[in-house]
Amino acid sequence: MRSPTRVQPGIAMCNALTIDVEDYFQVSAMAPYVARSEWDTREGRVEKNVDRILAMLDEYGARATFFALGWVAERYPQLMRRIVDNGHELASHGFAHKRAKDQSPAAFFSDIQLAKVVLEDTAGVQVKGYRAPSFSISDADDWAFECIERAGYSYSSSIYPIRHDHYGSPDAPRFAHDVRERLLEVPVTTMRLFGRNWPAGGGGYFRLLPYMMSRWLLRRVNYVDQQPVIFYFHPWEIDAAQPRVHGIDSKVRFRHYINLHRMEGRLRQLLFDFQ
Ligand SMILES: [Zn+2]
Repeated sequence: MRSPTRVQPGIAMCNALTIDVEDYFQVSAMAPYVARSEWDTREGRVEKNVDRILAMLDEYGARATFFALGWVAERYPQLMRRIVDNGHELASHGFAHKRAKDQSPAAFFSDIQLAKVVLEDTAGVQVKGYRAPSFSISDADDWAFECIERAGYSYSSSIYPIRHDHYGSPDAPRFAHDVRERLLEVPVTTMRLFGRNWPAGGGGYFRLLPYMMSRWLLRRVNYVDQQPVIFYFHPWEIDAAQPRVHGIDSKVRFRHYINLHRMEGRLRQLLFDFQ
């Protein structure tokens, strides 16, 4: 393990904590098992889980960016206001959690435009950021960035520069870069090792890997790359008691339910270890 030497001791880098505000049944991997028409019939747990996150962030004096679905904002408008009232940034995860690549440019544009209007009306703030469901935009998708810019967003955090079966854009730049004249892309954090990028910025990998390993990866980004970490997780990841979706593929089951009971403790450690 290389020790951190390239940053002056005592200078902590400020990182970005981001939360994709959606419920357990809206995850893309669950789409084959839970139809959109069933969403309103499932037990909603996102509000309670986000309130737990707000309380936890308050304890550590941390502020985060919440990429919320327009669908969630319509059903829980008070929750959007609580996010803003607690000093956090409200951003957009689109309206209906459809992957960018699965839609026509026109349908994609209307989804992200609707989400922006709903979130801004609900919370009374300007929404500047957008994150595509399942990181479903690659660096080659200029049509999508054109839509995001035209919808009035000023940044996107939609690229995960890794190789993954459901998403990823392994050759995209690893750090924030301009993708349009008025649009900045802020990719989720990866670590560069053995000539390829490894996932480091959260999600299932953070639940899968031992915490010490995640911390080592993230510290390298701060100290070796000298870049802030862009970390993400979902409210359902701290909810070990969430209702199980039955009949799902074993890989989906493993990825969704692994170490849910450890997540809150790990997040607390993360909030303690990083600024
Ligand atoms: Zn999502």
